[in-house]
Amino acid sequence: MNLSIPYHLENFIGGNFIGPLSGNFIDNVNPATGEMYAQIPDSNSKDINVAVKAAKKAFTAWSATTVQERFTILNNIAALIDANLDELALAETTDNGKPLWLSKQVDIPRASANFRFFATGIMHFANESHSMEDKAVNYTLRQPIGVVGCISPWNLPLYLFTWKIAPALAAGNCVIAKPSEVTPVTAFLLGKICKEAGLPDGVLNIVHGTGQHCGEAIVKHPEIKAISFTGSTRAGERIASVAAPMFKKLSLELGGKNPNIIFNDCNWEKMLTQTIRSSFANQGQICLCGSRVLIERNAYDNFKKHFIDIVTKMKVGDPLDETSKQGAIVSKAHFDKVMNCINIAKEEGGKILCGGKAVKPTGRCANGYFIEPTIIEGLGQNCKTNQEEIFGPVITIQPFDTVEEALQLANNSTYGLAASVWTQDISKANYIASKLESGIVWVNCWLVRDLRTPFGGMKNSGVGREGGWDALRFFTEAKNICVQF
Ligand code: NAD
Repeated sequence: MNLSIPYHLENFIGGNFIGPLSGNFIDNVNPATGEMYAQIPDSNSKDINVAVKAAKKAFTAWSATTVQERFTILNNIAALIDANLDELALAETTDNGKPLWLSKQVDIPRASANFRFFATGIMHFANESHSMEDKAVNYTLRQPIGVVGCISPWNLPLYLFTWKIAPALAAGNCVIAKPSEVTPVTAFLLGKICKEAGLPDGVLNIVHGTGQHCGEAIVKHPEIKAISFTGSTRAGERIASVAAPMFKKLSLELGGKNPNIIFNDCNWEKMLTQTIRSSFANQGQICLCGSRVLIERNAYDNFKKHFIDIVTKMKVGDPLDETSKQGAIVSKAHFDKVMNCINIAKEEGGKILCGGKAVKPTGRCANGYFIEPTIIEGLGQNCKTNQEEIFGPVITIQPFDTVEEALQLANNSTYGLAASVWTQDISKANYIASKLESGIVWVNCWLVRDLRTPFGGMKNSGVGREGGWDALRFFTEAKNICVQF
């Protein structure tokens, strides 16, 4: 199929590709080269109104489809994503700056897996029933909500966009979806794929624009009954303040400042390989990255030596080069933010053990936004660097003496998204996992994902859980019917 990318991207509303009603566009830049290569609609509430009308019109028929019909269409979408893996991966990398091998191995395959997973999930999603001895029986219908809003960030563009859209559609809702204005292209291409896959017009509407003009219009629209949002804690707070008084269902997947706890008795080689990933994968721009590495004191020097040795050899550069371990930071604004965080760490007394500087490749990527993987030591837990999310290739390392101290350091954060624990002592691992204030804990691994498990954070990392039945429950309204004998 034709997945060419036009200079002016369009919204996908009611099955048609149309420009923004205002006629205004936003520049879209390739972060690896610094060049603008496309423009995207700067949509606002007027475009959202049109999209909601289209979605409402489609809802009656879509919500009445059989699960078998939805299963078939969602599987068609998954198959088309797989069939166009190369084009989609290149589009993702051009838009986001991540290495092409990563887009090919993770982002795009995961997008099709999301559709396949929820296509199957809806076939198994059953109503609950509770019988009251011989007096009555209750059964709980799980009905689609209606028109729902899905808003996603730039770090895993198609991956997280589809993680919301797939369960929403599977459950029989119609969707108004907004990708990040920083990485809009694969979402635009998804519209073409859905049309080709036979998704009826208006069931999925993809509207582009900023958080302020387009995102807020979705959140404020009275006929959009649920909002599934992934992004910063700051935006999540704003969205909650708008949506809560309207009594909308809300799922908020927000920021993190995740601890990675390493004990001397761990499988050293595996820990080193996985800690490289958990620190710097996707340029450290994964909400699950472990940005606070806590190491048992008797292993600290050894860890430092080996870890720095590997990190200084990591190649940062052209995302199209198969040997690049790290690509570009997503945008100039985010590059400036991360560099500023490194300066703050220095001002706070942090010692830069390696990295800390911008990388200036030669050739095609000379004007791109690249930062060296950076390791900082010597900072306490209460400083800005160890409290605020940086969301870049920057980690701190800190020693600890006891299990209780490790827990105290790990839990001293307003965030509570994910944590890793490295030890061969299974009792210690289970004890720590039970005490961590974190929605997700990985023991002796990182980012091993089973899509059936509850995904989400505690504290300022969010409200609610995605994945598996949690996602299908979120995107349905429960109605209990009690029948007395
Ligand atoms: P962001 O909050 O700036 O934007 C996310 C999305 O929300 C974008 O589409 C944006 O346009 C939109 N938006 C912004 N303000 C809005 C508003 N007031 N109303 C409606 N929509 C609005 O986040 P980002 O910079 O794109 O992404 C990085 C952040 O996302 C990090 O904090 C990261 O930790 C977080 N994140 C969390 C998870 C998770 O699962 N918990 C996953 C990935 C990223």
